[in-house]
Amino acid sequence: SNASLVIANWKMNGNRALTREMSEILRDNQADFKGVKVVVCPPYTLLADMAGHIYYDEIALGAQNVSQHENGAHTGEISVAMLQELGVEYILLGHSERRAEQQESNDSIAAKAAAVTQAGLTAVVCVGEDKSQREADKTWSVIQAQLEQSLAGLSAKQMARVVVAYEPIWAIGTGETASPAQAQEVHAKIRGWLVENYQQVGARVPLLYGGSVKANNAESLFSEADIDGGLIGGASLKGEEFSAICRAA
Ligand code: 13P
Repeated sequence: SNASLVIANWKMNGNRALTREMSEILRDNQADFKGVKVVVCPPYTLLADMAGHIYYDEIALGAQNVSQHENGAHTGEISVAMLQELGVEYILLGHSERRAEQQESNDSIAAKAAAVTQAGLTAVVCVGEDKSQREADKTWSVIQAQLEQSLAGLSAKQMARVVVAYEPIWAIGTGETASPAQAQEVHAKIRGWLVENYQQVGARVPLLYGGSVKANNAESLFSEADIDGGLIGGASLKGEEFSAICRAA
């Protein structure tokens, strides 16, 4: 298919044994990935360990969050430069779990996206509606507001370092995957919005789908015109299944 980017979001899971196991499985399977970029986002505490196990250019390191601040008195926070020093290239921003549990706002996501892209790293900005919003036919208005506000103020040069991940909340961890047609419908609108606002740069922003992507549904999702890859949660913790998803891309 035409997909080019698959990102593993381990969330608050994993340990050093998994970084080793996953690296070995990805190494053994990577000949089948055919130019697909694979990114692994373990928890902060495993980043250095994971970095030590990555031997191949097509496998990159990602983080699940970052501070919007450069440095200073921000206890418990981690800066872009700290992640960059570890070899991190991608940073997830605005995951729905953080929006819900940490009250992460669009404004703070925009500030983080600015810091990440300014430093030359790639910001993976997550958007998605919940079930009641979908049922009330508010899906696009919710997504559009998230795009407008969480990408606010980025220059075209910065937008060239953005990936957008569409993750409908009702599909996350539920086994209730969006159908390829449901996902494509939203992706096409996101693409339209990006092109309208950022022209050629917007046309090239990779669009990932996330939410119960598994080995057995990845290929049909990835064959949709505006689905450029996946953001994988639960299935990214299982080496063989995650490899199969990367192969399907
Ligand atoms: P699941 O693949 O477990 O549904 O999680 C998706 C997700 O939230 C990835 O960021």
